[in-house]
Amino acid sequence: MVEKLSSKELIALEDKYGAHNYHPLPVVLAKGEGAKVWDAEGKEYYDFLSAYSAVNQGHCHPKIVGALKEQAETLTLTSRAFFNNVLGVYEKYITEYFGYDKVLPMNSGAEGDETALKLARKWGYMKKGIPENQAKIIVCENNFHGRTITIISMSTDPDAYKDYGPYTPGFVTIPYNDLEALEKELKDPNVAAFLVEPIQGEAGVYVPEDGYLKKSSELCKKYNVLFIADEVQTGIARTGKLLAVDHEDVRPDILILGKALSGGVYPISAVLADDDIMLCIKPGEHGSTFGGNPIAARVAMAALEVVKEENLAERAERLGKIFREEMRNIDSDMIELVRGKGLLNAVVIRPKNGKEAWDVCVKMAENGLLAKPTHQHIIRFAPPLVISEEELMEAVDRIKKSILAFE
Ligand code: PLP
Repeated sequence: MVEKLSSKELIALEDKYGAHNYHPLPVVLAKGEGAKVWDAEGKEYYDFLSAYSAVNQGHCHPKIVGALKEQAETLTLTSRAFFNNVLGVYEKYITEYFGYDKVLPMNSGAEGDETALKLARKWGYMKKGIPENQAKIIVCENNFHGRTITIISMSTDPDAYKDYGPYTPGFVTIPYNDLEALEKELKDPNVAAFLVEPIQGEAGVYVPEDGYLKKSSELCKKYNVLFIADEVQTGIARTGKLLAVDHEDVRPDILILGKALSGGVYPISAVLADDDIMLCIKPGEHGSTFGGNPIAARVAMAALEVVKEENLAERAERLGKIFREEMRNIDSDMIELVRGKGLLNAVVIRPKNGKEAWDVCVKMAENGLLAKPTHQHIIRFAPPLVISEEELMEAVDRIKKSILAFE
């Protein structure tokens, strides 16, 4: 039934029956494979959003979809009231993969962040000796960690928090990429953790100065504060290393993963930490009906295997350099700045004759490439990491053609 409707009709359905909590480009996607997607009328596009970096392994990767299908026909959900025969195998696999003692499986990225916050507070009371209900967590301006009430309580973006109060207390906000501000707050003995995105993705792909992550993790150690890396968007090969913190040889005390942990096939998130931290949470204190279900466990293992088998981190590193170079060479004064790491990149658009990033994205969609503005003037470019060099160059041509159309 769905296939018979036109894009126009499908957009009208979403508009009439769905909550208006998103503002999508007027494109209705019906199929995906590798770095490409097709709309309801069969028009082909390069996907340069990758579902906000969830589809790093490419759309409908056969190995990941195969794992999903096989497990879906065998056992889907038991809840954690019982053991299942896949979860332990996955837990061993993912903890060895990332080098931690333990994992706590959840579903969405926001739940991963919530889990890390709870874990850090619990550790603060049990291990650091913070007086009851006094724990603080340091966060950065312009952060994005999801949409729950607690997470928007940490946000500095009025679109995220305004009219959703009262807010969860216990957060201290400092500027991103500011070690001095961090050290000042770390001196407070009630601080349990510092939560940071290694690159601020939603804010517009803000890459901190080299050494920021290393030095902030060292400062955290000095003051007995947990260093929590939210790698929900930057992790799983996106920035040219398995984790973005790997660029600076940093090992977070708590690591949060989501999105590409399933290659975009299933909602899967995970929090990793060593025993000293993870075992602070006791049975009955935290969990989720679907967290760690057999399908998620199988899918995540397949998705992580693909990252290694197809050398996705190396590909992202190599193709990212080519991409930034090509963007910087476009002869248009609409290109104000190009920044990023690996295949997580942004182009800052200087408006011209009233045309802004949104207009560029609409033009690119016409020319067969999908990307979305983040904030008003920034376009994020993050294709699936399986994109070939040839495909990347074809995509670059479509971007060039779109931007030059405004000259
Ligand atoms: N953390 C970061 C860094 C993110 O970029 C996102 C989503 O964009 C999230 C958390 C939230 O993930 P989810 O939308 O799966 O809840």
